[in-house]
Amino acid sequence: MIQSKEVLFSYQDRNERLSHATTTQYDLIVIGGGVTGAGIALDASLRGIKTLLLEKNDFASGTSSKSTKLIHGGLRYLKQLEFGLVRETGLERAVAFKNIPHLVHPETMLLPIVKEGTFSKLSASIAISVYDWMAKVPKIHRKKNLNKVQTLQKEPLLHQDLLKSAIAYSEYRTDDARLTIELIKAAKREGAEAFNYVEVDSFLMKGNKVSGVQCHDLILGAKKSFIATQVVSAAGPWVDDLRDEDHSLKGKSLHLTKGVHIVLDKKTLPIHRSVYFDAFDGRMLFAIPRGKVTYVGTSDTNYNGDLDRILCTAEDVNYILKAVNHMFEVPHIDTKDVLSSWAGLRPLIHEDGKSPSELSRKEEIFVSNSGLISIAGGKLTGYRKMAERTVDLVQKQNSDFSKKKINTKKHQIHADSFANYEEFVNFYQQMYADYKQHGLSLSKSWYLVSTYGKYGINILNTALQYENLKLKQALIRAEIEYAIQFEACMKPEDYFIRRSGKLYFDTKNLIENYQFIFDEFTRVFKWDDDSKSKINTRCRQLIQDSTVFK
Ligand code: FAD
Repeated sequence: MIQSKEVLFSYQDRNERLSHATTTQYDLIVIGGGVTGAGIALDASLRGIKTLLLEKNDFASGTSSKSTKLIHGGLRYLKQLEFGLVRETGLERAVAFKNIPHLVHPETMLLPIVKEGTFSKLSASIAISVYDWMAKVPKIHRKKNLNKVQTLQKEPLLHQDLLKSAIAYSEYRTDDARLTIELIKAAKREGAEAFNYVEVDSFLMKGNKVSGVQCHDLILGAKKSFIATQVVSAAGPWVDDLRDEDHSLKGKSLHLTKGVHIVLDKKTLPIHRSVYFDAFDGRMLFAIPRGKVTYVGTSDTNYNGDLDRILCTAEDVNYILKAVNHMFEVPHIDTKDVLSSWAGLRPLIHEDGKSPSELSRKEEIFVSNSGLISIAGGKLTGYRKMAERTVDLVQKQNSDFSKKKINTKKHQIHADSFANYEEFVNFYQQMYADYKQHGLSLSKSWYLVSTYGKYGINILNTALQYENLKLKQALIRAEIEYAIQFEACMKPEDYFIRRSGKLYFDTKNLIENYQFIFDEFTRVFKWDDDSKSKINTRCRQLIQDSTVFK
């Protein structure tokens, strides 16, 4: 067992905390519990700015659980001459790797050079050299050119008839939702307050300046208002709705594009490493192995539909499968082989005449006459620098706020962080060795530690106390208890999508154990029949949306 340094973050004192928050004068209210809002809340709290974060759904339920889950510089943005963005996110990769090693894993990416592909050997070699140089990648991790034979040794499934050569280069993989939740927990430890399921409906005004927000609590249905000197909207795809509410939606506006990912069993697409490959239409896709699965994405299409229910359609699935079947020599992969999927929206800034893939990924900050600051766009990878710029602006706009500057470059995000990646690897391997006689597999040990850091061992020890349950269900119970107590988990979907990623990465296990999971929540939250029925219907719909394609 590890002595926990976590602070309670739970439904148990939620009402008390909410009441206290309604009577508190905050310096800063952050709207949106995605990675952008989470990063801002942490940065502001570290500078001594009294902060409240409000999220209308669950933390990370917007784009921040629907990305490709890469901590990357975005090689393809070099083609769009976005040098500033690539340099910044490229450099941020190493920072994230140091600051939360259990969640940021080195990943050697293979870029196959193929006939009629996006890159020639020369252009790819130059682009990746620039990429490595900009991101100050250490020599031993810099790109390696591979000939056709060497490439096929590394990845035998690449289509031999298309392949000419390849380049191997360094990137990192993460879990976007867990990163967001860890940032919010870190902000809370630094004194911030945060609530999920509290939706901001409108702004409170003092004269012509925003002085707070009017909200409703989606758990209890009650209206609440919160006051603050400064309000920042980090509402991702919903940023323009709030700018509209603030009467400041003029000039630049959002252009939403949808990106989907599909999940295949590792046995269906048994690649050994991540591959960044050409689709048949001039775009490029990632195929990324993770635990028992390989996921592939993403598409990039204009989106005008429902922001709260983004579906992966049969057409989206066919697009990705066509690209996979084109590039990899595997028995034909069909829709019925797809285990799961997710679809997310990129909140990009509209530029006349540009296609979805050509739009800039750089963030935009809007300051309205009412003082409201809105931030949208950018990358998961760049969250820390985006937060820094936003909080610099907050301090500039509010001369009476704490003037403290803080460098978050070395700020460990987890309460009990590993010193480095090697320590993470040793920890989960040692945990496997120590507990295999209890039925723990190496992959389960990896899952627990790569999801919860060192506290994975606490969850395991709790699970082992449930002697009447098999290890699989005992672990689910222990994870749910942890998520409810320390991660503000309120509903089964929060657990099986954002806290554990089971809907995407362990779909069969989730479906088999869905009733058990639902019953565990019912036992804790003691829902009445009406709430039970509504929550169950919603959870089943989310599972269906992820696994059935129309
Ligand atoms: P969101 O995560 O959408 O958060 C906004 C939050 O605001 C939501 O949770 C929403 O519920 C909340 N909200 C909205 N309105 C209200 C309200 N009225 N009251 C309270 N709360 C409200 N970046 C990378 O670095 N690497 C990648 O591999 C990568 N892949 C991507 C792949 C796809 C398909 C997409 C779509 C994006 C990808 N990105 C990637 C970009 C990255 O995911 C986003 O930049 C990032 O997640 C945006 O986070 P956010 O916090 O700004 O928005």
